[in-house]
Amino acid sequence: ELRQIAFYGKGGIGKSTTSQNTLASMAHYFDKNIMIVGCDPKADSTRLILHEKAQSTILQLAAEMGTVEDLELEDAMKPGAGIFAPDAPGGWINCTESGGPEPGVGCAGRGVITAINFLEEEGAYEEEGLDFVSYDVLGDVVCGGFAMPIREGKAQEIYIVMSGEMMAMYAANNISKGILKYANTGGVRLAGLVCNARMTDKEYDLAIALSKDLGTQMIHFVPRNNIVQHAELRRMTVVEYSPQSDQALEYKELARKIIANDMKIIPTPLEMDDLEDLLMKYGLEEEADEENVGKAAEA
Ligand code: ATP
Ligand code: MG
Repeated sequence: ELRQIAFYGKGGIGKSTTSQNTLASMAHYFDKNIMIVGCDPKADSTRLILHEKAQSTILQLAAEMGTVEDLELEDAMKPGAGIFAPDAPGGWINCTESGGPEPGVGCAGRGVITAINFLEEEGAYEEEGLDFVSYDVLGDVVCGGFAMPIREGKAQEIYIVMSGEMMAMYAANNISKGILKYANTGGVRLAGLVCNARMTDKEYDLAIALSKDLGTQMIHFVPRNNIVQHAELRRMTVVEYSPQSDQALEYKELARKIIANDMKIIPTPLEMDDLEDLLMKYGLEEEADEENVGKAAEA
C-alpha cells in the first residue's frame, strides 16, 4: 500500500534538509522505494539526493516544451545519484520538483497542482514497487497554495518540523488548523512533530507538551549538528556523506519510526492564548510578569 507523506513547518525550520535525510535513510537502510515531489519554487527538495544545484522543474520544462502535454515523465523525474542510484543497493529515490513563479508574482499552489496532475497522468504514482511519495512544501499554511498537497487529497500523513522557538510552535499550531480543516474531506491526518533542535530553553519538554496538546506525538528529536552544513556544501545528505556519524544515526532512527508509525490523528489546535500559556508553563516567561512585556533584560 502506497503511503503519501508530507513535511510541513515554518519557513527555514529544516523541512527540506530533514525530509531528504530521512528519506535517504528510508531508501538506503530500509529498502523503501520513494518518489519526492518538491512543492517549493526554490526547487531545493531533491538537491541532496541528486547532488545537483537545482533540478529542472516541471513548470520550467513544460514552458520550454510549450505545453505540459508534450512533457515526458523521464525528463521531469530523475533518479537519485550516488547511493540512491537505481543500480545501488537498497531502495531507489525518484526526484521531481514542481517549480513555481518567480518570487513576488503568482501563486505557488498552481505549480503544485500542475505537477501533481502531470505525475498522475504519466503514471508516476503507479511506478512498480513504489512505497512512499513525499511532499516537501514551503513555509506556513497562509495561502491555499501551500496546502495544495493536502487539499488535493494527496498527502495523507503529515509530519510537522518544528523547534522550541515560539514562531515555529505557532506555525506548527497553524498547520494543525489547516490539517483539521481538510481532515474530513480529504482524509489527511497529523502523524507527528519532528523537533529539529534550535537549542532553545527546555526545547525537548516544550515539543512534547505541544505534541500532547495537539493530540499527537513528538516522533523524533533531531539534534542540531554542524555536520549537516558540511554535507550540504557537497550537496549530500549526512546519511551519504558520513553514514557512521551520530547525526546520520538520528535520521536513520527517524526513518525507522516513520516506517513503523501508525499514529495518525485529527489534530486539536490550541488557541493563541493557550500557546502562550504553554511557553509560560515551561518558565520561558513568568505569568505574573505581564508587566515585563516590553522591558529589556537589564532592567
Ligand atoms: P523553506 O521553508 O525555505 O523551504 P526549510 O524548512 O526547507 O526552509 P531547510 O532549507 O531544510 O529549511 O533548512 C534551512 C537550513 O537549516 C539549512 O541550510 C540547513 O543547513 C540547516 N539545518 C536544518 N536542520 C539542521 C540540523 N539539524 N542541524 C544543523 N543545521 C540544520
Ligand atoms: Mg524547504
